[in-house]
Amino acid sequence: MKCDYCNLEINGQYYIDSWGHNFHCNHLSEAKVCGSCGSIVIPTSTPRPVRLDDGRSICGNCSTDAILNDWQMNRCINAVYEFYKRGKISFPRQNIKFTLVNENKIVKNALGFTSSIGNRYTVKLLLGLNKTIMCSVITHELMHIHLHQIDVVDLLTKQENEGICEVASFFSL
Ligand SMILES: [Zn+2]
Ligand SMILES: [Zn+2]
Ligand SMILES: [Zn+2]
Repeated sequence: MKCDYCNLEINGQYYIDSWGHNFHCNHLSEAKVCGSCGSIVIPTSTPRPVRLDDGRSICGNCSTDAILNDWQMNRCINAVYEFYKRGKISFPRQNIKFTLVNENKIVKNALGFTSSIGNRYTVKLLLGLNKTIMCSVITHELMHIHLHQIDVVDLLTKQENEGICEVASFFSL
């Protein structure tokens, strides 16, 4: 069996990640984890991994459809609005501002984050997520806004709020 990281034969102990890649154990300390999907970034992969300004690396699989600019982000947002429209849920779109941010501008380990002042919302989205993950993050964040709009946030526990948003993002996939 060949190592997916260095392409040399594996004898003895090895490591399998959740995507089914096999690695020599010694790569674990040097290897970067994809800032989008969490898989190990293989430097020599085709397509090539991408390196972002904030130091994160995006693996080859994610790099082909990583969301890196507003145009790409807006396409995801519109797709998610369409998803909600089918479920008869609408949003005060003009009051929702989306921004792509790097890792230093968002809560640690968060992929998205929504804050509100009154009826105005700011949704931060982590730069470089692949399209599928980005759309599910947007779906999650918009559900927070919906719960706020229908005024049930305080009737639910924090876990219940998060749970509903997770379920919504699951169904959008
Ligand atoms: Zn190896
Ligand atoms: Zn990835
Ligand atoms: Zn949430």
